[in-house]
Amino acid sequence: MGQPDHLSSPLRKAAILERFDSVSLPETLEICAIAMTELDQSEIADRKRQARRVVRVLKKTYPVAECALTHNSAYQLLTATILSAQCTDERVNSVTPVLFDKYPHAEDLAKSTQKAVEKIIHPLGFFRAKAENIRGMAKKLVDEFGGELPQTLEEMTSLPGVGRKTANVVLGTWYGIASGVVVDTHVKRISKLLGLTDSINPEIAERQLKAILPKTEWIQYSHRLIHHGRQICIARRPNCTECPLLRMCPRVGLPPLKNS
Ligand code: SF4
Repeated sequence: MGQPDHLSSPLRKAAILERFDSVSLPETLEICAIAMTELDQSEIADRKRQARRVVRVLKKTYPVAECALTHNSAYQLLTATILSAQCTDERVNSVTPVLFDKYPHAEDLAKSTQKAVEKIIHPLGFFRAKAENIRGMAKKLVDEFGGELPQTLEEMTSLPGVGRKTANVVLGTWYGIASGVVVDTHVKRISKLLGLTDSINPEIAERQLKAILPKTEWIQYSHRLIHHGRQICIARRPNCTECPLLRMCPRVGLPPLKNS
């Protein structure tokens, strides 16, 4: 038996999301508003077409786009990703050689002291919380997962300091598992400029991107947009005249280009 109409609508999805502990009331209201518009199939079709065009150009422009965080194992990638919150990858890469030299495996970090870890990661900001998180993560990895990284989103996000974005980065980059679309500051901003999402809420943006991008592109789309955000579509001064996406980019929210 099919679901009654009012239960099969996007409002039902919004009602389910409302029960997520991580979603606050204002976010829930935004989800409801967006969910209402998701009924518009022609808009979804337009965004899918736009996504196909964008992916084609990104693939040509950045054929090889990899995670910029230096790592040699899944544990190291996870640690570096936790440390990269509110911080640039370059800065993380400047401290991880010392950190991984001293604690090459989860077992080593699990036995560390808070003070010793704080001293190494001090330049990254939020060093107390970050030290607690990576030490807690390492302990749980050793105690509950035999020192190996789990391969599901649910298990990954049960680790201290690991949210959905961090879990998606590691599952996608290390294991090639497309568990979601990584929505960092570049992906969120540029996807909006390109008209592929209309939300600045990362959870909503991810949901909208997953709906229009083929699953096979989820991992690389984020890597490529991050490169694009660093090289061309720079936050305060996007270099639109040099951008290979210009002819298809509506530049949502930006003033018109001079001489255009
Ligand atoms: S055209 Fe401009 S706004 Fe659009 S993606 Fe390129 S640099 Fe960014």
